[in-house]
Amino acid sequence: MTPTDPVGAHMGEPDPSGRFGRFGGRFVPETLMPACIELDAAFREAWADPAFRAELDGLLHDYAGRPSPLTECHRLSEELGLRLLLKREDLNHTGSHKINNVLGQALLTKRMGKTRLVAETGAGQHGVATATAAALMGFECVVYMGEVDMERQKLNVFRMKLLGAEVRPALSGSRTLKDAVNEAMRDWVATVVTSHYCLGSVMGPHPYPWMVRELHRVLGTEAREQSRALLGGADPDVIVACVGGGSNAAGIFSGFADTAAALVGVEPAGGAAVGGGVPGVVHGMASFLKQDEWGQVEEAQSISAGLDYPGVGPEHAHLSDTGRATYPNVTDAEVIAAFRTLTRTEGIIPALEPAHALAWVIREAPSLAGKTVLVNLSGRGDKDVAQMMDLLEDEL
Ligand SMILES: *Cc1c(COP(=O)(O)O)cnc(C)c1O
Repeated sequence: MTPTDPVGAHMGEPDPSGRFGRFGGRFVPETLMPACIELDAAFREAWADPAFRAELDGLLHDYAGRPSPLTECHRLSEELGLRLLLKREDLNHTGSHKINNVLGQALLTKRMGKTRLVAETGAGQHGVATATAAALMGFECVVYMGEVDMERQKLNVFRMKLLGAEVRPALSGSRTLKDAVNEAMRDWVATVVTSHYCLGSVMGPHPYPWMVRELHRVLGTEAREQSRALLGGADPDVIVACVGGGSNAAGIFSGFADTAAALVGVEPAGGAAVGGGVPGVVHGMASFLKQDEWGQVEEAQSISAGLDYPGVGPEHAHLSDTGRATYPNVTDAEVIAAFRTLTRTEGIIPALEPAHALAWVIREAPSLAGKTVLVNLSGRGDKDVAQMMDLLEDEL
C-alpha cells in the first residue's frame, strides 16, 4: 500500500490497537480505557449478529427513510460539462447523514443494557440527532455544547430541549466544540455503568473512528449499487464529500475504496486539518490537527459551523498518507456561490457543509470535463437559510 498503488486494501479494520497506519489509536486516561474496551467488544459482537443488523436496517428503513435516492443533476451537469450525481442524505429524517450513526449507537446502547446517552455537539446537528434517537428509545440524554455555540445556535438548543434532552454548556477553554468533547468524555467516565457516549464523527479513541465509519457504510453501499445501476455496471470517476470530522466522507468512500474512483474530501480553507494541519494527539486519537506555533489546538473558522472541527478522523489522515484520497479546500466565497448554484439549477437547497464538496466540483469542472462525479449531499440547507438571508438578502 504505497502512494503509487492507490487502489489497495483500504477501509478495512484498523489494527488491534485501533491504528490506521500511523494514525488513530487510543490516547485516553486509564479511567477511560475499560469503557473503550467494553464498547469495542460490544460493537464487534453486535456487528457480527444478524439480528442486530436486521433491527438496525429496519430502523434505517422505517424511521430514517433509507435508502436515500441517487439524483442525476441534468441542468447543472450541462452547465459544468460533466455528469453530476448526488447521493441524497439530505432527505433522511433529521436532514442529514448523522441519523445513520446515532441509530446504530442507540441500538448498541440498548444492547449493552444502558439507558443514558451522552453526546457533544458543535453546531447542534449531532445533538439534535442524538436527542431524536434518545426520544425514540426512551433514553435519558445529556448533550454538551460550548457556551459560545449555544448562543450561536439557539434554534438547535431549543430543538434538543423539545426532544427531551438536557443541554449542558461547556464552560472551559474557548467554550466551543473541542471543549464539549472533553466534557462529554468526563461525563462518560463518571457514569459509564449507565451511559454510552454517542460520539458524532469518525474521531476519538478506538473503536469510534472504525465503528462510526461502519455505521455510515450503508450510504456508500447504497450509492455503489445505485450508481452501478445507472451507469450500466460502471463506477463514477470521482467521489466527492465534505470533511469536518469526516464521517459522511468515510461513509461514501467506503463504498468505492476498492474501485478506481478518485476519492476527494473537501475541507474548509479555514479548517483544513489534513491540508494545513500537523500530526498530533487530541480527543484520544493521533491525527492531523490545526495547531499554533506552540502546539496549542487552533480553532477552525468557516462559514459552516458543522465543519468547524480542528482535527480530522484518523482514517482520513491515513488515506491522505497513502495517496488513496486527496483533501483540497475551498473558500467561504466559493461555498456561498455553490450553495446558490445548486439551488437555482436543481431546486435543491444544500446544507453549507456539502456545498463545500460542490464548490470544489464547480471550481475544478474544466479538469473534470466528461467525467462522472458523485457528490455526497450530506444534508439539507433549511438550517442555513437564515444565515444566508443575512448575507444575501440585498442581492435578491
Ligand atoms: C455534521 C455535518 C457534517 C460534518 O460532519 P462529518 O463527520 O465530516 O460528516 C457534514 N455535513 C452535514 C450536513 C452535517 O450535518
